[in-house]
Amino acid sequence: MKPVYMDNNATTSVAAEVLEAMLPYFHDLYGNPSSMHSFGGQVMREVRKAREQVAALLGASPEEIVFTSCGTESDNTAIRSALSSYPDKKHIVTSRVEHPAVRALCSHLATRGYRVTELPVDGEGRLDLEQYKRALTPDTAIVSLMWANNETGVIFPVEKAAEMARERNILFHTDAVQSVGKIPINLSKTAIDMLSLSGHKLHAPKGIGILYLRKGAKFSPFMLGGHQERGRRGGTEATPSIIGLGVAAELAHKKMEIENTFVKGLRDRLEKTILETIPNAKVNGDRQNRLPNTSNISFEFVEGEGILLMMDEFGICASSGSACTSGSLQPSHVLRAMGIPFTMAHGSIRFSLSVYNTEEEIDFVLEKLPPIIQTLRSMSPYWKVGAAQVCGEA
Ligand code: PLP
Repeated sequence: MKPVYMDNNATTSVAAEVLEAMLPYFHDLYGNPSSMHSFGGQVMREVRKAREQVAALLGASPEEIVFTSCGTESDNTAIRSALSSYPDKKHIVTSRVEHPAVRALCSHLATRGYRVTELPVDGEGRLDLEQYKRALTPDTAIVSLMWANNETGVIFPVEKAAEMARERNILFHTDAVQSVGKIPINLSKTAIDMLSLSGHKLHAPKGIGILYLRKGAKFSPFMLGGHQERGRRGGTEATPSIIGLGVAAELAHKKMEIENTFVKGLRDRLEKTILETIPNAKVNGDRQNRLPNTSNISFEFVEGEGILLMMDEFGICASSGSACTSGSLQPSHVLRAMGIPFTMAHGSIRFSLSVYNTEEEIDFVLEKLPPIIQTLRSMSPYWKVGAAQVCGEA
């Protein structure tokens, strides 16, 4: 059964054009791009082209693109580089809703003598720029704020935040893993110094990412080794994946319009109909300022895991906003930071769409989901008590 795949913020399918472009570089054209011979040289030309394709998507210049293995490596490289480049500065500013690729590193650094300010968000997942401004100090080495949240799709004002950091000579990094390819980005017009991208979120393979590094920004490499990537990241280039990422970047550029019209239309119809047909459902996050493909919806008094399991029986793939920790279900750190009540946060589901979804798939989910919620609620003692309270009966 072909899945009805609505979990594209977790990972995406490799586009057919991307796979086709990669295949020759596994077997026929396997040369090392650093080799002196022309067999390797022809691969280097394709790596150069991929660098240009990625740079074009970001409004950057090709020399500012450093290929890495994933978004997590890019995030770690950016933050560690800033701390090595400014050894006297011991303060990091980030937010409470970052991906673990940033959060786990910052928690680790907090045990190694660094001071970490995790900025809060409001009930809609928004950042307060005045509070952000107050957090910046002469001791701040780096700000790391995500461009868009992976769970809710809420977009942070990173361009403005980067300008405020630059006015104080502070490096600014953004984790743009979820926003690249979904919203227009033109780094040449911003004060952003470093940006992380991950291939597998935009129809390239897993295991490839980039770190954008503004020309002139201080940098200290994380991966020391060969002279690859101009000494900024050692290790033989993952040539098939790099070439695939180049093609994916070009496709994303071309399909940006579709993402913001067709995909947004699918998402809005899914969301609107769910809210109209299922009682006690609510969208999490700022609906005005969100990625076009993401919808995070809470269904009160049911467990997200239960919804996922029942949807899975119909081949519907999505994510829940709670994770099983030590045998008990914990709402995600993002929903907790937003102050979403437990009865809502436990029943949250993230649908994340792509240009490969169809109107028929939306119809299918809209047909299957209401009875699933009804069935789960009929088994939930909390629903009976809670619903009665909502109706003023208890
Ligand atoms: N940052 C964000 C916002 C993400 O959503 C993810 C992946 O889900 C990552 C970083 C990590 O990327 P990767 O899986 O390429 O390491």
